[in-house]
Amino acid sequence: MNSRIELIQGDITTLEVDAIVNAANNSLLGGSGVDGAIHHAAGPQLLDACRKLNGCPTGDAKITPAFNLPARFVIHTVGPVWHGGNHNEPELLASCYRKSLSIARDHNLRTIAFPNISTGVYRFPKEQAAKTAFREVNSFLEENELPVKVFFVVFDTENLNIYRNLLYG
Ligand code: ADP
Repeated sequence: MNSRIELIQGDITTLEVDAIVNAANNSLLGGSGVDGAIHHAAGPQLLDACRKLNGCPTGDAKITPAFNLPARFVIHTVGPVWHGGNHNEPELLASCYRKSLSIARDHNLRTIAFPNISTGVYRFPKEQAAKTAFREVNSFLEENELPVKVFFVVFDTENLNIYRNLLYG
């Protein structure tokens, strides 16, 4: 496995990395789950910054400062809602990882942390989402020197077990 990938269990808002990725919605104006936790920890300035972005299409990503978070930047990406798998969900999820990594590289960022995009209220099957995440991150890292390190941040036990198996199993 790629030594530039690391697994962490816990709350992504506590990480001192160059960028944390937010699993946002199209409005970029906050939501539940990891999105709510990030806005809560970053403070109201994050919402002000997001208002200026005019939303974000599914599969795309946009960057803001991280304000009160220990991270420097937040990369907001919008994962697909799972509608059975025949609505381009796998490709849109892959695009979230690629776009987020491209933004990090273009801002010369060395470290980035991803939550398990779309696997909460958006209901993307966790095992398939994890495989997509690994595939996209691995192929991006093969072709790019930045970011140097990618952290997969798992929050729930189901994702922890899936990611452990993919990394070490
Ligand atoms: P989505 O709408 O993209 O499904 P959710 O926030 O509902 O986004 O869930 C995405 C993932 O984020 C889930 O696997 C959930 O367990 C995880 N999550 C929720 N809160 C946090 C947090 N504070 N840090 C890291 N991951 C979190």
